[in-house]
Amino acid sequence: GTAQIGVTGLAVMGRNLARNFARHGYTVAVHNRSYAKTQSLIEEAGHEGTFVPSESMADFVASLERPRKVVVMVKAGGPTDAVIEELVPLLEEGDIVIDAGNAHFPDTVRREKALRAKGLHFVGTGVSGGEEGALNGPSIMPGGTAESYQWLGPILEDISAKVDGVPCCTYVGPDGAGHFVKMVHNGIEYADMQLIAEAYDLIRQATGASAAEIGTTFEQWNAGDLESFLIEITADVLQHVDAETGNAFVDVVLDQAEQKGTGRWTVQNGLDLGVPITGIAEATFARALSGSVPQREAGRAALTAAAEPWAVADKEAFVEDVRLALYASKVVAYSQGFDQIAAASAENDWKIDRGAMARIWRGGCIIRARFLNRITEAYERNPELPLLLADPYFADAVAQGVAAWRRIVAAAATHGVPVPAFSSSLAYYDGVRAERLPAALIQAQRDFFGAHTYRRVDKDGTFHTEWSGDRTESEV
Ligand code: NDP
Repeated sequence: GTAQIGVTGLAVMGRNLARNFARHGYTVAVHNRSYAKTQSLIEEAGHEGTFVPSESMADFVASLERPRKVVVMVKAGGPTDAVIEELVPLLEEGDIVIDAGNAHFPDTVRREKALRAKGLHFVGTGVSGGEEGALNGPSIMPGGTAESYQWLGPILEDISAKVDGVPCCTYVGPDGAGHFVKMVHNGIEYADMQLIAEAYDLIRQATGASAAEIGTTFEQWNAGDLESFLIEITADVLQHVDAETGNAFVDVVLDQAEQKGTGRWTVQNGLDLGVPITGIAEATFARALSGSVPQREAGRAALTAAAEPWAVADKEAFVEDVRLALYASKVVAYSQGFDQIAAASAENDWKIDRGAMARIWRGGCIIRARFLNRITEAYERNPELPLLLADPYFADAVAQGVAAWRRIVAAAATHGVPVPAFSSSLAYYDGVRAERLPAALIQAQRDFFGAHTYRRVDKDGTFHTEWSGDRTESEV
């Protein structure tokens, strides 16, 4: 065969990835379970480059030069396993299977192990940026063997987004590492979106500004430290007017946020690792609350506790407070997400370079933002940085906004406006910097009812107190 790379699964994502490869001059073998999608790709985009279409999987595999590089871009879960099962008997030692779908990383670990046993490389790779990114340059997070990256890296870097000429693609780490960081990326995306939504809600409720006016505020924010894709599209969405009613578009959308599951996976993994990713968790639960229809109906009817009406006098100062609180909360959410990457990397021996992850998220993906440069710099200063929030740059940035952050969270509580992500991020900030936490009391309670033991501040060892007896302490 002569094709340099193959793509099987030609729905929106696979089709656009295949076109992206072709536009970069690669000869691309293309295949889809139902041939119609392959045909329509050739009819509509065949002129963009060199495609080698095949109707059967066997012909598709035969059309590839060795070592074969096959991108699988099908529905995650069972369909991915089905395609791998069909592919594997047709491949030869050293060939590379790339799963670019949204697999859950434990599945990637399992698949990598199975294919490695057959002498094949399996590269689970995160791809972010939706259809648009797939066509014009996504952020790409490939895992698998380092050896496979020697073959694959140049091609993937070629088609990825570029920021200042630097590709938004790098080798992440063994087996499930690529899909793992894509999962955390999506978790951070949930936190980012929730924080933006809370900022919008605060301004609207406190100042009575219209959606369009707040859109303008976001536009201004996008010229500063908060510059990011999500802030930019928020400005756009808030200024959009519904054609049918003439109302602000955001006011005609049902207020029940849905999810496809990556936020949930991230939170579940945070719990497994014992990493407090409260920003991501609150964002995920806030979506769940919004969709809790019977509970919200009951709550609206019964929970009428009056909050003080809200009409801030100095609107400009308030908006600036919200901006500072948003930035500080965002730093917390990212700090927590990068902690989660560090913990998983240590647990799985993935050796993930966190600064490199921030670098490849600067373009192509949904959380792309100016501020990611600062994260890369922080990890360059100290690759073992235990707390991103404590990096001098971020510590200082948050210190400058902390008074505003406190004012906003306090005012939101007084006026009954829910800001779960803003307030839990502030609680995390105060918790992680506390001299002493009431966890001491928790340990004492645990020893009281369950003889779970405790350690002391003044000497080494593990101790238990005879709570039901004479309360003597013994070392255990
Ligand atoms: P879909 O997730 O809608 O999957 C459709 C594709 O899967 C079709 O090519 C379909 O073939 C194929 N397929 C489904 N079941 C089987 C099966 N049992 N055997 C063989 N092929 C099967 O496509 P998308 O393009 O939206 O997404 C592809 C992958 O990319 C998914 O894993 C998705 O999670 C991920 N992704 C999607 C993003 C997006 O923005 N949409 C962003 C990033 C990742 P057929 O035409 O024959 O039905």
